[in-house]
Amino acid sequence: MLARLAAILPLLALATAQQKVPPCPKPPAGYEQALWAKAWQLHHACTVVDTHTDTTSRILDENFDLGPLSSTGHMDLPRMQAGGLDAAFYSIYVSARFYGDESALFAPAAKPGGDWPRPLAAGTSNGSARRALAMIDGLVCMADRYPDRMQLCRSVEELRATVAAGKHAALMGIEGGHAIEGDLALLRLFAKLGVRYMTLTHTNHNEFADSCAEALPRWGGLNTLGVKVVQEMNRLGVMVDISHISDATFFHALRVTRAPAICSHSSMRALCGHKRNITDLMLVALKENGGVVMINYNCGFIDEDYMKASAASEATKKIKEKAAREKLAEGSQELKDALAKLDERFSVPTRPTLKVLMKHVLHALSIAGPDHVGLGSDFDGVSCVPEGLDDVTYLPRITYELLANGQSEETVRKVLGENLLRVFAAVELEAYQLRGEPPFRNDLKTDSLPAAR
Ligand SMILES: [Zn+2]
Repeated sequence: MLARLAAILPLLALATAQQKVPPCPKPPAGYEQALWAKAWQLHHACTVVDTHTDTTSRILDENFDLGPLSSTGHMDLPRMQAGGLDAAFYSIYVSARFYGDESALFAPAAKPGGDWPRPLAAGTSNGSARRALAMIDGLVCMADRYPDRMQLCRSVEELRATVAAGKHAALMGIEGGHAIEGDLALLRLFAKLGVRYMTLTHTNHNEFADSCAEALPRWGGLNTLGVKVVQEMNRLGVMVDISHISDATFFHALRVTRAPAICSHSSMRALCGHKRNITDLMLVALKENGGVVMINYNCGFIDEDYMKASAASEATKKIKEKAAREKLAEGSQELKDALAKLDERFSVPTRPTLKVLMKHVLHALSIAGPDHVGLGSDFDGVSCVPEGLDDVTYLPRITYELLANGQSEETVRKVLGENLLRVFAAVELEAYQLRGEPPFRNDLKTDSLPAAR
């Protein structure tokens, strides 16, 4: 009897999952009814994966609860279900401030090769690894709280089984390579805890790689330790994430990695000249590597006008805010009024629309073809997302826009999740093939030396 029940249970779970397609709502204004109904069905039939959400920061810093429907932020479990988001990589984000004195990190280098942001010696402890552990714990606690609705996953197989059982698959990716504090042992332990990608840097250069920060390059790509970090990630089955790094580090990492790489949340520099975006040349190199770029929804990365206007208004607002804080007492009504006035005066520029984001997706498809493009929202990590993609419930509109543009159902399926899953599986296979190889070790005498090019 028990054996029979065990055989039936997965089928029941599958049936439940299939029943969970929410009824198709009325089409948004300007959308064609029949195509909208088709897009809705297709979207909910696909495995939809997002490679970058910062909801973990909300969980940890704002005590945010993924369970109930919330009116703030971009996602929670009910909204993910409504938007058909099956799996998400939760960012184990370590801000540059945990690495050391923040003001030094953002000061320009005094001279070429100047020590900015001075990388600590490899293996020097700082607050970064502890912060990453706190982030992981935040997500672990959330998964423990909702065992019937979500599941922490570490592999393609676990992800697909979780989705088939009608649950949300939560995965982890470290954002900011300084989280490992230059220590390959910490990288291995994070992998054991379930981390499945790592951006080699965040906004700061670190012990082993240069970021795309304005500051002068420190290593000119990866140093000796950086090469070992990439190779150890290959051995461990952790995806090498080449978002956030400098162009030189990007090409260097692609030369070193034995497995396909990902850009977990980057858009197209041909359409918006932000250094966080990748050029067509970089995209072609990523395609040759077999990797995938996951398009970022951040207004400041997809719309150059928005990027320039918001940067200028932010800079002026910061100066005015500093002056107000120096003049008025902290916590006083006068200061509150003055800050509220600043918020009004420096209202954010007009948001780009979903169509602007779609141009990035379509441009990437036109350069790299259907097998190398996906979605990495940056939800809950950015203050502005496009109009028409206001939170995770709007995701089916991306499917509609792709179909309306003449993309095939097969391409839609790949962009929504299958491309990422193919790369994830290839990274797992490479790790399998490398099993038995000795782990890479820190050598503090050579770790900070320039890598052979
Ligand atoms: Zn980021």
